[in-house]
Amino acid sequence: MSDTPTEKPAPKKRKRINVRKPDVMAKVEAEVSNHYKSSVVEKLREHGGIVTLGNTTIKLAQQFGFCYGVERAIDLAYASRKVFETNPIYLIGEIIHNPEVNRQLQQMDIVSLPWQEMNEQYDALTDNDVVIVPAFGAPTSFVEKIEERGASIVDTTCGDVMKVWRRVRTYAKEGYTSIIHGKAGHEETLATASHALGKEKNGHYLIILTLEDTDFVCDYVKGKISDADFMSRFGKSNVSAGFDPSVHLKQVGVANQTTMLKSETEEIQNRITAAVRERDGDSQNCQVFDTICGATQERQDALFDMLKEPMDMLLVVGGYNSSNTTHLVEIGQEELPTFFIRDAGCIESLEQIVHFDLEEKSEITSEYKNLLDQDQHVTVGITAGASCPNNLIENTILRVCELRGISKSEILEM
Ligand code: SF4
Repeated sequence: MSDTPTEKPAPKKRKRINVRKPDVMAKVEAEVSNHYKSSVVEKLREHGGIVTLGNTTIKLAQQFGFCYGVERAIDLAYASRKVFETNPIYLIGEIIHNPEVNRQLQQMDIVSLPWQEMNEQYDALTDNDVVIVPAFGAPTSFVEKIEERGASIVDTTCGDVMKVWRRVRTYAKEGYTSIIHGKAGHEETLATASHALGKEKNGHYLIILTLEDTDFVCDYVKGKISDADFMSRFGKSNVSAGFDPSVHLKQVGVANQTTMLKSETEEIQNRITAAVRERDGDSQNCQVFDTICGATQERQDALFDMLKEPMDMLLVVGGYNSSNTTHLVEIGQEELPTFFIRDAGCIESLEQIVHFDLEEKSEITSEYKNLLDQDQHVTVGITAGASCPNNLIENTILRVCELRGISKSEILEM
């Protein structure tokens, strides 16, 4: 980056770079495998995801961990460093929501830029710089700025996220306001909201998160809530500039962040459709489109399957800011003691687990004595979000086994 950005004329707009060259990808594959693979996870998979040693049963969900979108994003980030060996490389925020993966990228001198708003670092980009767009994508204004500065872009946005963007751009083109089920402070939802403005930038959006938000919107649609009350509930960050509910909720299209809870997204679609039907006599002015991604769906379904059999506890491994991992925790904690852990280090002892509490939104320590009694049979379920590498899942399995008196070699020799 230059120290005197204002003195330099903006360089010529650069094209996006394809770093997927066969020789590069061969090296990347070896490096990624070395960083994140797990012989223990492979062994468990060979055994159908379930293993019993002595008094301990470990069960892995049938689908867990890295999804195709995350694998691709990591591959492209690693490839960037190989293709641009000496150029400064920047990343908008985090490549995915996992501290271990982001640490590895930092070690490659890939520097994170702010993702919530652009600062002077963006103004200082030059045509010698490379900027990686993460798997969640980035708002259009960020990408336009990077292009304007002439920096090279390596775009790792997942295809499933781009599918949502296409949908909300269509809503904008047809004059429908996008109601986005997602987290207003999540990278993907920010990016999707920017696309909901459409090519002409005259579209509108409203971001809702909960069923309570949905009911509030439905009550407005049914004429039970004033404009002022509506706008005071959904502050600036949840609506597009110039949003007027009396105008912009006449025609709505529902979309969602790809990693939401499917059952909740369906309920939101149903409630909004019913409210529009009640107002208009039919639901022509409401479009719905399920944009939950396949990987999120598979991980949720696999957990529901695993929960059909009794277990003593569930460990969900992943970054605390990971949306899809959070929903796995929500599913689990409805049924049994569930601990959302960052890595194996959170399992401090047989009776103390450090974990993220979704209610308190912070890491807490809980006592859990069920693991203590070595004479008692214990079944521990383990799953992980789409951004969690297998090596962290292996460490978790090994930590539980260690505390229950089982060695790694016992697992590998099964
Ligand atoms: S969780 Fe879904 S949308 Fe996100 S990167 Fe993975 S496949 Fe793509």
